[in-house]
Amino acid sequence: MKIYKFGGASVKDAEGVKNLFKIINSQTEGLIIVVSAMGKITNALEFLCKAYFKKTGDLEVAFQGIKDFHQQIIDDLFKGQSEQVDRDVEKLYADLQSILESDPSLSYDYEYDRIISFGELLSTTIISSYLEKQSRKAKFIDIRKCLITDQNYRDACVNLELSEQMCRKYFNFQDTFMYITQGFIAGTTTSQTTTLGREGSDYTAALLANLLNAEDVTIWKDVPGIMSADPKLYENTTIISKLSYREAIELSNCGAKIIHPKTIKPLQNKVIPLYVRSFSHPEKHGSVIRELNEKQSLPPIFIDKENQLLLTLSPRDFSFVAEEKLSRILATLADYRLHLNLIQTSAINFSFCIDLNETIFEEFISKFQDEYEVLYNKNVRLLTIRHYDDDIINKLTKDKLVFIEQHSRSTARFVIATDQEE
Ligand code: ASP
Ligand code: MG
Repeated sequence: MKIYKFGGASVKDAEGVKNLFKIINSQTEGLIIVVSAMGKITNALEFLCKAYFKKTGDLEVAFQGIKDFHQQIIDDLFKGQSEQVDRDVEKLYADLQSILESDPSLSYDYEYDRIISFGELLSTTIISSYLEKQSRKAKFIDIRKCLITDQNYRDACVNLELSEQMCRKYFNFQDTFMYITQGFIAGTTTSQTTTLGREGSDYTAALLANLLNAEDVTIWKDVPGIMSADPKLYENTTIISKLSYREAIELSNCGAKIIHPKTIKPLQNKVIPLYVRSFSHPEKHGSVIRELNEKQSLPPIFIDKENQLLLTLSPRDFSFVAEEKLSRILATLADYRLHLNLIQTSAINFSFCIDLNETIFEEFISKFQDEYEVLYNKNVRLLTIRHYDDDIINKLTKDKLVFIEQHSRSTARFVIATDQEE
């Protein structure tokens, strides 16, 4: 059995859905199709959720925009013969409407997951209907009954034991060989909706592969495979045809957007290969991430993580930044769900890079200001070069204002001012 994951960009319009059909139609053996919300609908739902919970923005207009977007795709796909899918989609809209009409609870994260999940529910409803119209039925599974998590809304942790039982029950391959289900969303034992973190559909595909012992996973993307750098930013990029799990987990953790960082572990644990292929060129091989025993010689790979915040904390009383202080700093980061992208310490300085989030910025730094002098740079990016050599470092950092520089045997990292970019 195989798993195919289609992200939002691959199903952003009717053409994308037709292309998905072409890709899956040639399958004759077990297949689970995991789909994200269409296009940028998750962002639109985030806006809707804020309008509902924080009373910012126009709720009606935001909801109508989401409906219009999906309606256009339905019209293009079903050409007026859409009674069944219209009914199914209306039912989802009615459920969402009733949430929006009731008073929100006190928890933003809980409401967020309830609302945001409609993106994946809508996409899978429309796509499964279209596949049926093309006489290629894929059984619809509501993944919230299969992937069981704790109640850590927006970043829920999966209970593997329970999820394995439920996955085996629902994906039993007895009366069908093809299933369609949602990425990114999950459920609790008390049937509350949770999500696995933004861009989490890759992780869903990897979890299902692990729990059901899939042969392999394919992520269908808008790029030809894993590239040595973002082709939008750099010239002469090449496709890396194979990568080890270790290399892939390092790259995704440094900010390579190709796969969600949590995706690798479930696959590595069961030695399941992950293919990254282009949905617009399905005839091409793309890249594979798998167990590689031989030592690989890889070209320099660069990853640019933009929109970073560099913070330096120095204790006002000149005491060392030692274990106790560090553990309190880390706890504050965890409270705000911030991930450390790079750290550097000295006797009385602790510097770190995190993704810049303007909404919480003021409040976050105010947590430190009593105890520390706080210095920060907002306009910085974090450049990682794996498998570097001196030439490439010179080329990429020449004439740039570098705040921090770190080298290990295989990786060089630079915190660089964005303003210096031409
Ligand atoms: N739709 C979700 C998001 O945009 C999950 C995903 O695309 O993987 O974050
Ligand atoms: Mg997405």
